[in-house]
Amino acid sequence: MHELGTTSGDLAAENESLRARMAYLMEQAERNHEIMRRHQAFDLEIVAADNFSNLVSTIFRSLPTISDLDIVTLSLVDEEADIQTVMNVLGVDFAEFPQLHFVASEASLGFVPARSPAFTGPPKPTLGPYSPALHQQMFPNPPAGLQSIALVPLLRNRRLIGSLNLGSLDPARFTPSMGTDFVEHMGSIIAICLENVISNEMLKYIGLTDSLTGVYNRRYIDRRLIEEIARARRQAYRISCMYIDIDHFKQVNDTYGHQGGDEVLREVATRIKTELRVSDALGRFGGEEFVVLLIDADLDSATTVAQRIRANIAGTPFHLSSGTTVSLSVSIGVATLDDFERDHAMEGVAHQLVAHADTALYQAKAEGRNRVVSFD
Ligand code: GH3
Ligand code: MG
Ligand code: MG
Repeated sequence: MHELGTTSGDLAAENESLRARMAYLMEQAERNHEIMRRHQAFDLEIVAADNFSNLVSTIFRSLPTISDLDIVTLSLVDEEADIQTVMNVLGVDFAEFPQLHFVASEASLGFVPARSPAFTGPPKPTLGPYSPALHQQMFPNPPAGLQSIALVPLLRNRRLIGSLNLGSLDPARFTPSMGTDFVEHMGSIIAICLENVISNEMLKYIGLTDSLTGVYNRRYIDRRLIEEIARARRQAYRISCMYIDIDHFKQVNDTYGHQGGDEVLREVATRIKTELRVSDALGRFGGEEFVVLLIDADLDSATTVAQRIRANIAGTPFHLSSGTTVSLSVSIGVATLDDFERDHAMEGVAHQLVAHADTALYQAKAEGRNRVVSFD
């Protein structure tokens, strides 16, 4: 015979267990709420990052704390090394970001696209145990005891732009059976922010550089010169300016075509750069004319650099892709900023410095070309 109902002892026990369960759920809800709040703050923080350096440093600084991770790294696809070139020109110091690295193709990120008979979907995050053999590329410097990882594809319009790599010392932090919604959401926000800052930096770069040679354009040099004059006045160092013009360049175009002329311009820019310090700024001022700002250089040292550039170009012929070889020379005018110019308006001083270098260049041409003349 069955007993119907329950005794009061059973009810009390059930009540107790329900209360415990309820307390646990409340605690979980509160914890989840706190996690969501932290992630929302993180989302706002990365959306606000207005350049590449700010964005990646925010990711590396904040994400480990808010997501309780032991390592966060970022792999970015940079097929032609364009991103690295642009960021270098804009002054990003990659040494500051050891957790950031670049790969040459989408394939080298190692995501296998999810496949079903009818549909090839975008790649999904990989969650699971850390394996040094498999994950060396994503974690070149893993923390001791790294146990589990999540590799989150960063997708923009179905294009894979990189991978966000998360690691934990806790083996249960990421397991293959876990849901991936949360990390996918995080990946999608980070991907949007990355694409956004990268295209902004590209636009900045295009506005500041000469598309033929990749060196700065006139607009940039004019602006930089004003900044440098202000700094040189505060910190009491000298700046010098070089005006470089290729000799008889019209003949190069006439003989080897515009295409050959363009190749020569690129090579001249490269050779000038090899003689400069990283703090110097090289710009193309149009046609076959280049201007160099030399920071913390007096007339003597600027003239020495100018002689090196002249000798480099005159000393080694230029090889064109058509197979022909061209001998070339340049004339260079050099000028420096004098102390007495301190009291004058900066725009005027800047203009005068370039004008003095141009005057010296004109003299170098008149004296027979392939020479350096210093303005005095
Ligand atoms: P000089 O020794 O007096 O400087 O003689 P030059 O022939 O170099 O001087 P000029 O200023 O008369 O000629 C400059 C030439 O540069 C004219 C133009 O055809 C060429 N040029 C200007 N811009 C470009 C360019 O973007 N690409 C190429 N290939 N040629 C250019
Ligand atoms: Mg010229
Ligand atoms: Mg010329």
